[in-house]
Amino acid sequence: MKFKGENILEFTENFPDDLSCLQYLSDIKWSGGYKCKRCGHTKYTVRKKNLAKDCNRCHHIESPTANTMFHRLRFGIRKAFTIVFEMSATTKGLSASQVSKRYGISRTTAWTFMHKIRSAMGSSGKHKLKADVQVDEFVFGGKETMKQGRCKDSKKKKLIGAVELTESGKIKRVYFKKIEDYSSKSLSKIFDSHISIEAQVYTDKWTGYIPIGKRFNIEQKYSDKGGSMKQMHTIIHQVKSWLRNVYSWVHEAHIEKYLAEYSFRINRSIYKRTIFHNLISRIVMAKPITYQSIKIST
Ligand SMILES: [Zn+2]
Repeated sequence: MKFKGENILEFTENFPDDLSCLQYLSDIKWSGGYKCKRCGHTKYTVRKKNLAKDCNRCHHIESPTANTMFHRLRFGIRKAFTIVFEMSATTKGLSASQVSKRYGISRTTAWTFMHKIRSAMGSSGKHKLKADVQVDEFVFGGKETMKQGRCKDSKKKKLIGAVELTESGKIKRVYFKKIEDYSSKSLSKIFDSHISIEAQVYTDKWTGYIPIGKRFNIEQKYSDKGGSMKQMHTIIHQVKSWLRNVYSWVHEAHIEKYLAEYSFRINRSIYKRTIFHNLISRIVMAKPITYQSIKIST
């Protein structure tokens, strides 16, 4: 049964213990039927202790968390479920130190786990932005200045965002990418990953967009101090203040994951009731990630 809603009491009633969480994972993991990973046999016995499946032919044992992002979890599965629930339901975002205190786990463990969840929030790239789409670049970090235009400050992270609008001009979906510079090649990244070639795209007059206009429908307008792309600038303003408030310091290499977290919630705000189930399903289907692969050597 799919868990629906954002109510924390209903959530805890639904998942009173580790076994109920494992059952939920097991239902998702083997929703298409069980097949032994080692020998391909389809008959099994369930171990009551952890709901692992024991192959009736070769006795290979597979737990509901094996080969998923929950593999080798350093704390209880129920804790993990609750953190995922909080990350999916919150609009403000959670920091690793908050999670560390609230769940009694180390800050590193919390940080690593949360980054795994963030990578599960990343877009599949299958649902490209359509209709009216606004694209603009912005910077984050370093000293904030009021200066407009393309900044050369190397401490600032350069980003590009694309927002899809509804027919009535409301923000529908949004994606971001980190860029190295403002060349056509860098700007193309967001077009190629997230924008449909049928979309009507609006940008400012920057010449870097001209070559991309050969492949996409782009209309370039004077930026008019942000007035011509109001929705895009609202999003830029919001995402910057969200990043600043929740995460005091964001490493360059991780910024896309934080932006993915932000997009994930915006893009699913009309499906809020199933956002937890959707996220858990992604975690089950995703391959395990290690701390080493997330960590950055400094
Ligand atoms: Zn087997």
